[in-house]
Amino acid sequence: MPRESNQLDVLIIGGGIHGMYLFHLLRQKRSELIIKIADPHPAPFYNWRHCTSNTGMRFLRSTGVHHLDVDPLSLQKFYKKHGNEIRKPYISPNNRPSLSLFNNHSDKILSDYDLDTHWVQTHITDIDLSEEGVRVNTLEEEIHCKHVILAIGNGGQLRAPFWAEQLAVHSFPILHIYSSEFEIKNYKPGFHSVIVGNGMGAVQAFIKLANSHSDKITLITPSQIKVAQYDIDPGWMGPKYLTNFHQEKSYQNRRKLINSARQRGTITPEIDRELKQVLKLGHASHIIGSIKNAELFGVDNAYLKLENDEAVFCDQILLGTGFDPVINSELVQKLKTNESLKCAECGYPIVDPFLRWHPNLSVTGELAELELGPAAKNIIGARHAGQRICNLL
Ligand SMILES: Cc1cc2nc3c(=O)[nH]c(=O)nc-3n(C[C@H](O)[C@H](O)[C@H](O)COP(=O)(O)OP(=O)(O)OC[C@H]3O[C@@H](n4cnc5c(N)ncnc54)[C@H](O)[C@@H]3O)c2cc1C
Repeated sequence: MPRESNQLDVLIIGGGIHGMYLFHLLRQKRSELIIKIADPHPAPFYNWRHCTSNTGMRFLRSTGVHHLDVDPLSLQKFYKKHGNEIRKPYISPNNRPSLSLFNNHSDKILSDYDLDTHWVQTHITDIDLSEEGVRVNTLEEEIHCKHVILAIGNGGQLRAPFWAEQLAVHSFPILHIYSSEFEIKNYKPGFHSVIVGNGMGAVQAFIKLANSHSDKITLITPSQIKVAQYDIDPGWMGPKYLTNFHQEKSYQNRRKLINSARQRGTITPEIDRELKQVLKLGHASHIIGSIKNAELFGVDNAYLKLENDEAVFCDQILLGTGFDPVINSELVQKLKTNESLKCAECGYPIVDPFLRWHPNLSVTGELAELELGPAAKNIIGARHAGQRICNLL
């Protein structure tokens, strides 16, 4: 079919780690393709930078070969050449890179491109798929392309417990640590702040705030915090477990495998050590228990009631309760309804080995997990998805 004058070859929706890895890979391997990236933020990696900075995270949980460049040793080479000013570039085991090394390396990779000519700052509201091509709608314009790639991360889906929503309705100061409204550097302690959640995000934010302020702060975790080097057994990042996963034909069983592989709510050993240190400070404490309900108390305070009937009074709450599934995002919901794309019982896309959900639409990240397994949304997942999508285009 002849190309319409304004038709792109590929539109990548989402300029996070997944979208930008794909962009870089396609520019390296298929430089003849006309590619754009659509994202509501002014520059790449907005969510990554915002979320990692709000947790106070200093080292990635993944290893030094999980990064944005094609050559697995690229980060190491970059450090040797440019990383001298970084005081502690890696943490063991497996050379987990510091956040600043990872970010500087990512920026260096993208500095080879004139991003202004590829970046469309917009929010995609709708996608119309046909055999001839794709029409993508934004609030301002229509974009036409041959192929579209969904790299929307969690699609902006923050998870909040029901009691938090009730407090928020009454304008009680309760924010998600990943919300665009929250900046950890602007945090002002009250008489008693509470952080809820038991993963790396919640615990690191708690450590950061407890170390930088002396007012009372409590971490409430629904269960005992577990310690594990990784959130997923590294066997899931290569053939060790993925070979069997791909032989499994039932998507229900694949979903069970994914769910049981994820070690939710775990923290790394060095964060566990930091947590123990911080709990020695008089103003920081940790309570294990599920919050049953929450009520306003007086004008400015809230009263959190735990399953064991313990009560906690506070005047602000931070939620480190993670993300809701991307399949609940508006764009994915619309696609499912309007285009009748195939989904498994769990609601996730059934995609082919090239990660196509439709002949003209591919997915990466969490949306590809029934094909890529439990590490699909991690950086290694971006690398696996990139290879497959690149082989198709
Ligand atoms: C604090 C934290 C630390 C992590 N650490 C690690 C780690 O050490 N190692 C690891 O492997 N993984 C880690 N992860 C997991 C994962 O690698 C990251 O979340 C990663 O940033 C995901 O990248 P992404 O591109 O899929 O999503 P995002 O970074 O969320 O990017 C998606 C982009 O799509 C845009 N978008 C969404 N909807 C639309 C739309 N309708 N139209 C246009 N654009 C849209 C968003 O605005 C966003 O810019 C971490 C996650 C978090 C939150």
